[in-house]
Amino acid sequence: MDIKQNLKDIKSLLPEHVTLVAVSKTKPVSDLMEAYDAGQRIFGENKIQEMTDKYETMPKDIEWHMIGHVQSNKVKYMASFVRLIHGVDNIKLLKEINKQAIKHHRVIDCLIQIKIASEDSKFGMTPNEASEIIKSETFSELKNIKIVGLMGMATFTDDENQVKKEFSYLKNTFEDLKPLNTTNCQLRIISMGMSGDYQLAINCGSTMVRVGSSIFGSRNYN
Ligand SMILES: *Cc1c(COP(=O)(O)O)cnc(C)c1O
Repeated sequence: MDIKQNLKDIKSLLPEHVTLVAVSKTKPVSDLMEAYDAGQRIFGENKIQEMTDKYETMPKDIEWHMIGHVQSNKVKYMASFVRLIHGVDNIKLLKEINKQAIKHHRVIDCLIQIKIASEDSKFGMTPNEASEIIKSETFSELKNIKIVGLMGMATFTDDENQVKKEFSYLKNTFEDLKPLNTTNCQLRIISMGMSGDYQLAINCGSTMVRVGSSIFGSRNYN
């Protein structure tokens, strides 16, 4: 795997307004450092322990994004350094992130995960649930979190039309919720698109793509 070349190839395809999150889960620090040396500063991980270990050994100018499903009792391990939490899908988790952010005198940026896939296994809120939470008094009191956008994961399928429909649904949800604009909710990011579908996602309005295997090669979960 030529990580530097892969990064260069992908970056040449990204419009300037699209941010690349290099998804480095399961990969060794040496692979991440290759990407770092090629200029990559934003890395995405889906396990808190693994992200924390990498954070501790790697340069401190890296932005760490948590892209996996987060359990409330683990927020404390990343609260001091995590830059963006992508997959927030319930109020209990928002409250816990807020609580831990207070301890570290920070405001933690979060994305609300919207369920866009037809599969049952994918996490996420409905647009209505998201809107109710953003408008709620409980949420307005969480001053140490900021919702800065939405995240979605499309169905795992070869059917490009279906994926396109799901991405467009997230983009429309974003446009619907954007006017809510409160002190701790200002939507500007749409996180959608992975190795297999990031170009389609960008065409549908993505502003942040999460790309793993196209940069680092396929993952080995043994
Ligand atoms: C693993 C993962 C990715 C990256 O997937 P690739 O297909 O390797 O690019 C993106 N988003 C999330 C939430 C992931 O868990």
